[in-house]
Amino acid sequence: MSEVEELAGTDSYLAVAEGRVLDVADGLVVLDRTVFYARGGGQPGDTGRITWDGGAAMVTDTMRRAGVIVHEIAGDMLPEPGMAVLGEIDWTRRYETMRTHTALHALSGVVYRDFGAKVTGGNMEPGSARMDFELDGISQEFGQEVEARLNAELVRGYPTEIVWMARTEALADPDLIRTKVNLIPEWVEEIRVVDIVGLDRQADGGTHVRSTLEVGQVRVVKTESKGKANKRMRIELS
Ligand SMILES: [Zn+2]
Repeated sequence: MSEVEELAGTDSYLAVAEGRVLDVADGLVVLDRTVFYARGGGQPGDTGRITWDGGAAMVTDTMRRAGVIVHEIAGDMLPEPGMAVLGEIDWTRRYETMRTHTALHALSGVVYRDFGAKVTGGNMEPGSARMDFELDGISQEFGQEVEARLNAELVRGYPTEIVWMARTEALADPDLIRTKVNLIPEWVEEIRVVDIVGLDRQADGGTHVRSTLEVGQVRVVKTESKGKANKRMRIELS
């Protein structure tokens, strides 16, 4: 199969793109060029629709199968291989997801900088998310303290940049080691890094807003213990 051009990784603000159908099977469509983000790294897959000459279909999820981005289609109407299509993501949902994703990275940056705690896991939906930290304990007061510190940073408008680094270079970077860059499969030679310049750097494939100002304000809505050295914070965008 030919190489698929994955546009979300280089321009997260692109909502529409033309492509051509490479393959259709079991309600899944593969395009040679797509704006849809395939779920991964805690970020959900994009939804939206694809249209072609004489047809249209809703995309209910986007994921990877054997490394290739596939679009899950609702209903029986499907395009045929070779057809030109227009892909369009649900931008409202994606943008809220981008704000949420950047909020999570900023949160992990603040908690590491101020309390020395590493992240052990996380997940998000548009507008809300959870993140687990290597902390001995957690309280509601701690959650409020983190919320205040996080919001104070977000309004400072840190820019977000995407940088590509050679694997060897990434493995030697203390910030990236902290966020477990060594877990990335060995065949990945170029590592994508999301740099909230001055606040947080992580190897990450997700889509982010350009500035922490676009995140707005965040609320820490719940703190809970999920076991020894695994303390959870739930956040929501205000
Ligand atoms: Zn991320």
